[in-house]
Amino acid sequence: MSLRLIANWKLNGSVEFCDKWAEEFFKNFSSSNSIQIGIAPTSIYIDHLKKLITDCRIEIGAQNICDEESGSRTGEISAPMIKDLGCKFSLIGHSERRIFYHESNKKISKKLNLANNNTIIPVLCIGESADENDRNNTHYVLESQINDALKGSNEINSLIIAYEPVWAIGSGKLPNPEEINFIHKMIKDVVQSRFPKIGLKSVLYGGSVNSDNASSLFAQEHIDGALVGGASLDGNEFAEIANILNDLK
Ligand code: PEP
Repeated sequence: MSLRLIANWKLNGSVEFCDKWAEEFFKNFSSSNSIQIGIAPTSIYIDHLKKLITDCRIEIGAQNICDEESGSRTGEISAPMIKDLGCKFSLIGHSERRIFYHESNKKISKKLNLANNNTIIPVLCIGESADENDRNNTHYVLESQINDALKGSNEINSLIIAYEPVWAIGSGKLPNPEEINFIHKMIKDVVQSRFPKIGLKSVLYGGSVNSDNASSLFAQEHIDGALVGGASLDGNEFAEIANILNDLK
């Protein structure tokens, strides 16, 4: 299974929000859409959302997992636990976790393996900061993040990488689509050449994606889909992005 469009709801939502979101999404989501979609609500709403979304094209996942499976880790949620709730994927190493929760590459690498061992598809998030971008260090930063995350893994059956420039998240600014395409090609080359046992299924772009800019992004060969934050909170808008992706891929 290769997810091509993922909603990251971050720290947003409520039971009422989930109900309204699902109603609006299915009103606008084309019945002929064959794109595999993921939704990552806050973990506390996974079970409720799972009951609302019975469409086989849509999987529910988590925004994060603990780097341990069980034990003394108050407040955490583990890979076996999200699997138990029927989740198929988890975001790992989102920049907000790297920045606000000081998540290290070592922890990210452990989480990737725990996800894989529990048949949860890891969605590894990588991306450069504004400063790294200004200094033209983007390629170096991305290669290091990939190496550090994957060097501890012999084999990962299905991996998704989300390229999310930190400066593009929630800012309304994004690199031009050709630049993103070039970076995605580089990401695919690095993984295939250095980690041949890792099954990279898709490389998604994340950062200020909405229904106005989706066509220009999805027209690019190596942009396989998107990880969407802010615009995914509107069910109608997220369905529109899914329909555009389906038309272009
Ligand atoms: C994100 O944080 O994963 C993201 C892509 O956010 P946004 O779409 O709001 O830029």
